[in-house]
Amino acid sequence: MLVIGLTGGIGSGKTAVSDRFALHGAPIIDTDLIARQLVEPGQPALTEIAAAFGAECLDDSGSLRRAYLRERVFADPEGRRRLEAILHPRIRARVRERIASLTSPYCLVVIPLLAETGMDDLVDRILVVDVPETEQVRRVMARDRVDADHAHRILAAQASRDRRLALANEVLENTGDLDELGRQVDGLHRYYLQLTTQPSE
Ligand code: ATP
Repeated sequence: MLVIGLTGGIGSGKTAVSDRFALHGAPIIDTDLIARQLVEPGQPALTEIAAAFGAECLDDSGSLRRAYLRERVFADPEGRRRLEAILHPRIRARVRERIASLTSPYCLVVIPLLAETGMDDLVDRILVVDVPETEQVRRVMARDRVDADHAHRILAAQASRDRRLALANEVLENTGDLDELGRQVDGLHRYYLQLTTQPSE
């Protein structure tokens, strides 16, 4: 099983890319989704978060106040490390379980913060969706209805474009339209299938 890590900055087009891979039948393992499932009420990670950050992290129904926690660790590196120490080992374990359960030639693991989290050891190759920062800001503003300052603030907290690109085995330049993105994914699908049928170097 060839494991492809898909990453890219906010609004770069990871979801659009993974949706297109899914049309080819490639299984998609989404680490954002796993992270959300891990903090559902009753999950041990949520109990640990409440113990570490206080009961104010939970709303009246016992659900995580995600926006509150995000804001709280945004400017607090130590808090962020504590949160990551709770979540990352569990995310890794779930990704490994999912990979082990699959039988397809290759799969995609979407890891938005791959450059920041050092999760590259989970994957065999890294595909980076790349767009210039001005385009990222434009797409995030349009999609999330936020202002330019807000979009820039999120970008500034992520790894730089160069740092991400330095990790890439493949780069998908998402500067064209969605049809162009689709054509590039179709080519990558063929390429990854080809890699799985060749003896490794
Ligand atoms: P996030 O990091 O926030 O999860 P993402 O990397 O998954 O974002 P998408 O949601 O796929 O990014 O794309 C961001 C926005 O830009 C979406 O509204 C999407 O439809 C749009 N978009 C993506 N690629 C293109 C493209 N090639 N042409 C036009 N719009 C695009």
